[in-house]
Amino acid sequence: MHATGLTAVPFNRTHIAENELDYLADAVRGRSTCGDGPFTGRAAALLREITGARQALLTTSCTHALEMSALLLDLRPGDEVIMPSFTFMSTANAFALRGAVPVFADCRPDTLNLDERLIEAAITDRTRAIVVVHYAGVACAMDAIGGLAARYGLAVVEDNAHGLGGHYRDRPLGSFGCMATQSFHETKNIQCGEAGALLVNAPELAERAEVIREKGTDRSRFFRGQVDKYRWIDIGSSYLPSDVLAAQLTAQLESFERIQSRRHAVWSAYHAWLADWAASGGVAQPAVPDGCEHPAHLYYLLLPDLHNRQAFIAHLAERGVQATFHYQPLHSSPAGTRYGRRAPGGCPVTEDVADRLVRLPLFPDLGEEDLAQVIDAVRSYEVI
Ligand SMILES: *Cc1c(COP(=O)(O)O)cnc(C)c1O
Repeated sequence: MHATGLTAVPFNRTHIAENELDYLADAVRGRSTCGDGPFTGRAAALLREITGARQALLTTSCTHALEMSALLLDLRPGDEVIMPSFTFMSTANAFALRGAVPVFADCRPDTLNLDERLIEAAITDRTRAIVVVHYAGVACAMDAIGGLAARYGLAVVEDNAHGLGGHYRDRPLGSFGCMATQSFHETKNIQCGEAGALLVNAPELAERAEVIREKGTDRSRFFRGQVDKYRWIDIGSSYLPSDVLAAQLTAQLESFERIQSRRHAVWSAYHAWLADWAASGGVAQPAVPDGCEHPAHLYYLLLPDLHNRQAFIAHLAERGVQATFHYQPLHSSPAGTRYGRRAPGGCPVTEDVADRLVRLPLFPDLGEEDLAQVIDAVRSYEVI
């Protein structure tokens, strides 16, 4: 350790929401712990409220929600899906599982989102969909992307794992695609360990989405009394989480505003207090274009090069601060080269930023002293 008296500031620590432990106990005592119990309904209603989505289906993960979206698009082997290289592997894996080909396009140097100017050149007669990821919850250029998709008859899916509560031109993220996916992994703004949701905005997909989530059966309609028995009617899997997880999620979603206001306070403190240090060292802070309201999902810095990034992470670690890098490019990963291909022009920006990016601790219970410790640790690093 560099100095005595310093506490360790972890990269992430889960927040326990006001009613979380009570709701968990209620779910267990209620003796109905399987999926689609009362808490699942409550959590889904809260999600629809936040995102404006027509339908919200809780799932076991965002990864599984992405797999459901690939099933719902009826993708066939050889179909192509344009997506960023700078994302979590599940974004690509879900489509590769259907035999579809992820086509990795580069990101914008400012927001690190899929660069809308590169999409058209990546479209072929096999292209079926565009998957966008709102990195750090800062919206992709949905006007341009929606226009292109309409012109070429392509589906848009939002991997909205970072974007819950974010907006683009006053419209909630998760409401733009025919489908959107959410994650409630412990590292996300709202969490219950491992779960997710599929948001369905296209009405024609709603009924089949329920079937796919329930092992390919019409069990959801059976429980609503719309059919007198349920049968196997389509392919699907078991994508519904236990109502115990939904109980935890309900409490978290009910505390959404409190969680968000604390996350925003931390984000804004970093942004203000690190501005002069960043400018003098050639370090880039996050860019938030006009029309984007982000949900303070993560705070990142772009160091000048890999050498500085590694030295910076080590410098923070010596001062008790756990900071971490993020996505490694998918287009050059072992599975990415096997199952996908790169869009024309390759992904030079992705390769560059993946080496330079660092994420700082950001969670609702990050106290003022810990925040000051992080800021001091960052500011004491001299770019070499
Ligand atoms: C976290 C994350 C996922 C995966 O979420 P899980 O719920 O862990 O499956 C997918 N995409 C992005 C962009 C993510 O950040």
